[in-house]
Amino acid sequence: MAAKYVYFFGNGQAEGKADMKNLLGGKGANLAEMTSIGLPVPPGFTISTEVCTYYYANNETYPASLTAEVEAHLKQVEAIMGRTFGDARNPLLVSVRSGARASMPGMMDTILNLGLNDTTVQGIIAQSGDERFAYDAYRRFVQMYSDVVMGMDKHTLEQLLDQKKAEKGVHLDTDLTAADWQDLVGQFKARIKADLGKEFPEDPKEQLWGAIGAVFGSWMNQRAITYRKLNNIPADWGTAVNVQAMVFGNMGNDCATGVAFTRDPSTGENYFYGEYLVNAQGEDVVAGIRTPQPINLHQKKPGDLPAMEEVLPECYKQLADIRSILEKHYKDMQDIEFTIEKGKLFMLQTRNGKRTAHAAIKVAVDMVKEGLIDEKTAVLRVLPSQLDQLLHPSLDPKAEKKIIAKGLPASPGAAGGTVVFTADEAEELAKNGKKVILVRIETSPEDIHGMHASQGILTARGGMTSHAAVVARGMGKCCVAGCGDIKVNYAEQSFTACGGVVVKKGDTITLDGSTGQVMLGEVPTVPPQMTGDFGTLMGWVDRFRTLKVRTNADTPHDSKVAREFGAEGIGLCRTEHMFFEAERIAAVREMILAADVEGREKALAKILPMQKGDFIGIFREMKGLPVTIRLLDPPLHEFLPQEDKDIDELSRTMGVPAATLKHKVEFLHEFNPMLGHRGCRLGITFPEIYDMQVRAIMEAACELVKNEGFSIVPEIMIPLIATVKELAVLKANAVRVCDEVIAKYGVQVEYLIGTMIELPRAALTADEIAVEAEFFSYGTNDLTQTTFGLSRDDAGTFLPSYVDAGILPEDPFVSLDQNGVGQLLKMGCERGRSTRPNIKLGICGEHGGDPESVIFCHKIGLDYVSCSPFRVPIARLAAAHAALGGGTDQTK
Ligand code: PEP
Ligand code: MG
Repeated sequence: MAAKYVYFFGNGQAEGKADMKNLLGGKGANLAEMTSIGLPVPPGFTISTEVCTYYYANNETYPASLTAEVEAHLKQVEAIMGRTFGDARNPLLVSVRSGARASMPGMMDTILNLGLNDTTVQGIIAQSGDERFAYDAYRRFVQMYSDVVMGMDKHTLEQLLDQKKAEKGVHLDTDLTAADWQDLVGQFKARIKADLGKEFPEDPKEQLWGAIGAVFGSWMNQRAITYRKLNNIPADWGTAVNVQAMVFGNMGNDCATGVAFTRDPSTGENYFYGEYLVNAQGEDVVAGIRTPQPINLHQKKPGDLPAMEEVLPECYKQLADIRSILEKHYKDMQDIEFTIEKGKLFMLQTRNGKRTAHAAIKVAVDMVKEGLIDEKTAVLRVLPSQLDQLLHPSLDPKAEKKIIAKGLPASPGAAGGTVVFTADEAEELAKNGKKVILVRIETSPEDIHGMHASQGILTARGGMTSHAAVVARGMGKCCVAGCGDIKVNYAEQSFTACGGVVVKKGDTITLDGSTGQVMLGEVPTVPPQMTGDFGTLMGWVDRFRTLKVRTNADTPHDSKVAREFGAEGIGLCRTEHMFFEAERIAAVREMILAADVEGREKALAKILPMQKGDFIGIFREMKGLPVTIRLLDPPLHEFLPQEDKDIDELSRTMGVPAATLKHKVEFLHEFNPMLGHRGCRLGITFPEIYDMQVRAIMEAACELVKNEGFSIVPEIMIPLIATVKELAVLKANAVRVCDEVIAKYGVQVEYLIGTMIELPRAALTADEIAVEAEFFSYGTNDLTQTTFGLSRDDAGTFLPSYVDAGILPEDPFVSLDQNGVGQLLKMGCERGRSTRPNIKLGICGEHGGDPESVIFCHKIGLDYVSCSPFRVPIARLAAAHAALGGGTDQTK
């Protein structure tokens, strides 16, 4: 039997199901599902993603059996509709749309009204009794098809349309007559022939195959590639193609088209939320060309146009019933598209709705309360990466605000930055480290790179489901959309806001995506609050996860923030950061410049009380939770000035000849400092430095135990170990100092001495190292650097091209390279445990806060991950996902 490539849906029957997304794409699978559960869906068929894969693997050709399969399925659609594709009297028109496994809004191509030509348009006139509608549909089709399939510059045809309106002295498309549209169709075709040197195809079959090819081709267009990259969607998934009987929302005032969410996608509140347009066709709502109307009275605000509930009450009631059927069926918030043709409602799409992090949490917690889902499902519903949005600051309520406009609160959070008007400028300035706000009349998929580079997005037109709003929410960027208060003037690179305030390119504004306010200048922000539904969900998260989450913190303040975010200890306290504070750096430099051990010890004695003070602060803040303190790691030259003028200044303040300083700087110079005299190598050559640090740690602990009744088990961590001998020497020194301090204070304090595993040799010999080490913490920043032979300080100049070219799936310094570096982690765990079964294992590289990496850490059996304070909740949630067997895959 030949392989099956095409799946039918219509009249209550479907060959596909919701769980066939991989094969049918999200749209196709859900059209099939909606058909099967009895919802009104126009009949059609889905050409599977396997055809897309075949198409790219076989020089852009189709499997031999596809033509016959498509023809047969088209016949089924004709039978249900009682119309024939290409028929002169009663023609069937179809839409051709893409539909990938994961939703990629607006990224690929769509063609509507396909099947129209000079003959079939007469049949549409007969069917609809409306000549104007028929020719309007025809010209839309010619515009869309010539742009998407033939590569015609769409602005050329738009200009012809504008000329026509000017000739007729009208402003709106709706003022043009049937004859005008008919004339324009002729003009469009002539222009297409003149510009492209080929005729617009009259044959509906040729049109159909042209459209199918264009949809498959659009999988590889630049904006789809960019979107996939930003959303980690693999290129080999491919798209499906959906061919479906057309229904028309633009046949008069008893017609409409709209999009809706079964709950509010911004706040998560449980009411039906949507927008519609009377007498409009499909894309008009999402394209942001006309400002849509609210679907119900709940949403309607003073000044809004009438709600669908008022204008088309019967259809609204039917839609509201479908809303609850869908939620009960899918047990998740849905994002739907519908069309009403002459008072009859049709469903064109349903999918799990994209939502803000805030809404994701509220919907998940509410659905547990409503009995729709259980707590585990609720936890899996919130993506760890999404939490980032909630962990960002909001506007300081006490700050002064000069509000210059208000639009729709399309995506929450607050951000300030420099105003730019094009996506390219946004990208350019962001590359130079500037924070930018992208201001557009409306955004389109071509702007996606600029939106990604911006802190926030402001648009003058479009609703809550406009491109800007949907994409910004997905990216977790703040967005104020549909801000009719502003008039954007691209030519002058400025916009005018309320009260005639003119904001030019380069000026600073602040957006509040939670209220829709636009403010002049940069408004200060405050950290987020983690209570309410967030607290409820995180309570469930902590019940399910087994992996502990610690934080990387070097100050009492960071420790406090991290604990409030739920950190269960410190996994990495980098002591070098403490050396840079104003009154200490002098003593540190004195220590580096000292000619001998005595000189160094004298300088170190000045640093000791300050370090001890730091540790007391941190231990106090962590209230007995484990704290891992790493001994000095960076090469010493980092503490000395490098520029002549700074050396001269230091020479004056220290009273040391500039020549001596220069000599020392030259002496410390290394060609590869990251592979040079750093980490435990400093401890081997200058043992007095580590001795001082160990003393400071233990004196801090003993004092708190003795005077304040604390129970503390300090974890002393030695960096950059390559061989067990290094660790044996340094551990012996540390034990000696610890025992001296304990004896001096006369208290019982336990301590652990362990190491970072951040060199491949350490992972390979982890069984030997575990003889000495009581814990391992994977320093995956250095381990990635040394495994790849990729400098973490220099890779930024060329690594992005590796990712762009698909040589690396992601930046390995951001998400752990599980196949390579990850294997060293796994091996290190196994070998370490073979020597010391109860050895404590953790990770403290940046990967400790990356959801995919956290899941990997759970799988290989680490005890904890450690990450920056603001990522602690993300890591907690990722750890729960790992324990519940979930991934972070967006399509789940
Ligand atoms: C590491 O290498 O992963 C690490 C945590 O140490 P640092 O980034 O300080 O080198
Ligand atoms: Mg390191």
